[in-house]
Amino acid sequence: MSKNHEPVWGACLKVIKDNISLQAFKTWFEPIVAVRLDANVLTIQVPSHFFYEWLEENYIVLLKKVIQKELGTEGRLEYSIIMENNTTKSTPYTVKLPALNSKSLRNAPVSMPLNVSEKQIRNPFIIPGLKKVNVDSNLNPSYSFDNFVEGDCNRLARASGYAVANKPGGTAFNPLLIYGGVGLGKTHLAHAIGISIKDQFPNKTVLYVGSEKFAHQFIDAIKNQTTNDFIHFYQMIDVLIIDDVQFFSGKEKTQDVFFHVFNHLHQNGKQIILTSDKPPVEMQGMEQRLLSRFKWGLSADLGAPDLETRMAILEKKMYGNGIDLPKDVTEYLAYSINTNVREMEGALNTLLAQASLNKKAITLELAKQMVDKFVKNTAREVSIEYIQKVVCDYFDLALEILKSKTRKREVVQARQISMYFSKKMTKSSLANIGAHCGGKDHATVLHACRTVTNLSETDKQFRAYLEDLEKKLTIQ
Ligand code: ADP
Ligand code: MG
Repeated sequence: MSKNHEPVWGACLKVIKDNISLQAFKTWFEPIVAVRLDANVLTIQVPSHFFYEWLEENYIVLLKKVIQKELGTEGRLEYSIIMENNTTKSTPYTVKLPALNSKSLRNAPVSMPLNVSEKQIRNPFIIPGLKKVNVDSNLNPSYSFDNFVEGDCNRLARASGYAVANKPGGTAFNPLLIYGGVGLGKTHLAHAIGISIKDQFPNKTVLYVGSEKFAHQFIDAIKNQTTNDFIHFYQMIDVLIIDDVQFFSGKEKTQDVFFHVFNHLHQNGKQIILTSDKPPVEMQGMEQRLLSRFKWGLSADLGAPDLETRMAILEKKMYGNGIDLPKDVTEYLAYSINTNVREMEGALNTLLAQASLNKKAITLELAKQMVDKFVKNTAREVSIEYIQKVVCDYFDLALEILKSKTRKREVVQARQISMYFSKKMTKSSLANIGAHCGGKDHATVLHACRTVTNLSETDKQFRAYLEDLEKKLTIQ
């Protein structure tokens, strides 16, 4: 009649999985390992004290139910919390079900491998022997939440960043991992969180550091035999922001030290914010134990901004700089640079500089030349959105009508022309072009391209339209 811990916990997990969200299940239950079953006491191993508290606060009712279902009313659960001092020894805390008292547990002595004593710590950011309050946060005040334009592409990341900023260390988003491609606002958002925390909790020590800098400091510390100081310094931070953690890839020693810092901070309820250009699953050369920790909290991605967001970002930057550009110029920038906010901003700045140096008015013409000369990758290829806009303007149609299902002749024609130019001038697939034109399939796009080609051969007026449009679309 003796049961085995694994099948028992397996059965519990099955019920738990059906009762909570997949994300929560992955975050809070997948890392748990069942270690033993003695009589009616099931012991599960959890990665940290924080983790244990979170389970207690949020899932105790559910846990109680499943344990009792599997082990009867006398069933109990014990947690074994992994200690981060490199030994496999773990000290299980006994938690009795149903009567729970997590208060006393919280006061249970937890031996920290590296206790911080503030006086002797050397700050790798220069000043030896500093006090905690002296830590410079390295935050850029212009990267605030106010300056961060919200859009569909960044809603989740922004909202979770906001939640973290209001309750550092006190949400499930720990660590908060923000990931996304180059120039999409990861660094900006990471600073925004830090700035907001500094504003609301002036006593918290917030530190922003690039992962490369962290790695260099660590190497210096090894050279100078001050690794303990290095570790202690990082362990006394309340909110640690590490930008571009993908640079830790392949750097085993750095990962190792970061692992210890991470654990210490996490166990003490300190907030960790990370950014990366990839989601954890795609980070090569990163140790499994670190990756699994990255997944503990929330990974939120930043996507490429859509047209409205790009326009809003440009407008915000112009407003911030007291500049006013002709509308067709901003539209052109927003339409033609569609993957990377940094590049779009760069284009705006270059345009302004060009105009003032050469004392030229900022015109669409100048913008086109500039984008062609200075913006890489995007320069030669117009976007489907831009094509649609130019075609709509040309025929005086609203963009929504072009994208609608209307079968009106002039709309159908404009739609077909946009498809034709999208095929001709972009690298998009037929399916993608169709998707941008009101959800048409690839066959429809192909048919449109043929129709346009045929018409241009037989209809002079139509050919004139096409030539006109082609001129407008071509970047000189
Ligand atoms: P990443 O770190 O992802 O490479 P950055 O955070 O450095 O990108 O962003 C590049 C530039 O784009 C910065 O100047 C930033 O202010 C700007 N930017 C990106 N996203 C936004 C946004 N949503 N609102 C305002 N500015 C943004
Ligand atoms: Mg960055």
